[in-house]
Amino acid sequence: MAEDKMDAKTQKTERQRARDYADAMSSLYIRKKDPVCFQCGSTRNVQCGHLFPRGLSLRLRWDERNLWSQCAYHNNIHEMNSKPMEAMVEILKGKEWLESLRAEMNEFTDLTNEEIREIGRKYKRMSEEL
Ligand SMILES: [Zn+2]
Repeated sequence: MAEDKMDAKTQKTERQRARDYADAMSSLYIRKKDPVCFQCGSTRNVQCGHLFPRGLSLRLRWDERNLWSQCAYHNNIHEMNSKPMEAMVEILKGKEWLESLRAEMNEFTDLTNEEIREIGRKYKRMSEEL
């Protein structure tokens, strides 16, 4: 694939670098917007948690509705058991909201590297505006 050249220095493909950039910029934005764990209120070591795992859906990987500030503890728990976080989101947003987002996870979406980079640039601008 001509579009996916390996970078000699980083040993990462263009696609991996686009994904890393969008991950970093969306995480920066979410943590700046909400600098506390939405489950316990902790401000220590806040991370950008994905309600539905980022590896499962390109559609939701950088969708703001899927991104929630979490402390390391709650983010780790979520990776092993998704139920507590889902239950908390359901309390905050409602069952219909949650199930509609879950349904979107299964809709196939493909993005070009440039579209992924544009998502990263969008989050960068948004975090600068906070
Ligand atoms: Zn927490």
